[in-house]
Amino acid sequence: MNGEWRVRGISTEQTACDMCGKSELQKVVVMENVETGETKSVGTTCAGYMNSSVSKKSTSYLFKLTTMVAKWQQTGFSTKEIITGLMNRGCENYKVDGNNIVMQKGFETTIIGEVA
Ligand SMILES: [Zn+2]
Repeated sequence: MNGEWRVRGISTEQTACDMCGKSELQKVVVMENVETGETKSVGTTCAGYMNSSVSKKSTSYLFKLTTMVAKWQQTGFSTKEIITGLMNRGCENYKVDGNNIVMQKGFETTIIGEVA
């Protein structure tokens, strides 16, 4: 595995890992190569191999956020209300980046939803 990989987001649209082929995954972590922009959707274990700072704990936290944002959108909350709701929870920064709702941590942005 060449180069540096970072978490781009969490997806439930794919259920198999691009790295090891493991299937029937509940969620996949979308990893992006910092140099080439190439993306791979992988299971949480393989995500940890690609970037040692990616833990199962951090991916399940992201999964929770992603699920929450999707629920709020279903309920009819606007993007602005969702961002405010997320910000009220504390710790991280959230904002709209293009068509995505992202979590910003230092220089890293992670997609946690799409603008409805
Ligand atoms: Zn895998």
